[in-house]
Amino acid sequence: DAEVVLIGRSNVGKSTLMREITGHTFDTGGKPGVTKKPNHYDWSSEDFVITDLPGFGFMSGVPDDVRERIKTDVVRYIEANAEKILVGILVVDGKSVIDIIDRHSGPDEIPHDVEMFGFLQELEIPAVVAVNKMDKVDDRDERLDALAERLGLYTPWQQFAETIAPVSAKRGSVDPLNEAVREHLHEAKRDDL
Ligand code: GDP
Repeated sequence: DAEVVLIGRSNVGKSTLMREITGHTFDTGGKPGVTKKPNHYDWSSEDFVITDLPGFGFMSGVPDDVRERIKTDVVRYIEANAEKILVGILVVDGKSVIDIIDRHSGPDEIPHDVEMFGFLQELEIPAVVAVNKMDKVDDRDERLDALAERLGLYTPWQQFAETIAPVSAKRGSVDPLNEAVREHLHEAKRDDL
């Protein structure tokens, strides 16, 4: 079955976004790091499943080795299923993503989000970055340009409407994401012809 995966650090709003996309309700109040198995759901009327992978990165109360294992599991899942994954949605928190990336950029360190974006590209899985919580962001275009730069894309970010999708899951405004994903799915279908 064709598959779309949702990946991202914990607390970026992945569960909220899943709920918005699928219409299912999820337990968003669960203990972080506890859900380690991927969850599969149908995306509205479209003909594919969406898989919510466990959130990685910092979670209070979760030890380092558990965090590492979660990330390794996510990476392995994507590698093992790369053939059928049509789109990888990387969810980030628009309000904090730049600070987090900059804090973790250095000679010996690649920020998780940048690493995951590059990883999807390596596997030739079309990536869409769902930049969530945009309702909290004032300097929208500057913020999105800064993100594009850090992901190795160009500015202005609007050139990458297929890749950068500003959304607010909580407000239910996810049209840019739906459009970006649909665009990639149609491309995948064209490639099949
Ligand atoms: P997850 O850990 O990635 O699954 O994140 P959750 O879906 O549990 O959301 C984490 C927190 O972010 C919750 O308090 C949500 O209400 C909040 N949140 C999610 N989406 C948005 C959004 O679009 N805007 C704002 N302001 N908060 C959001």
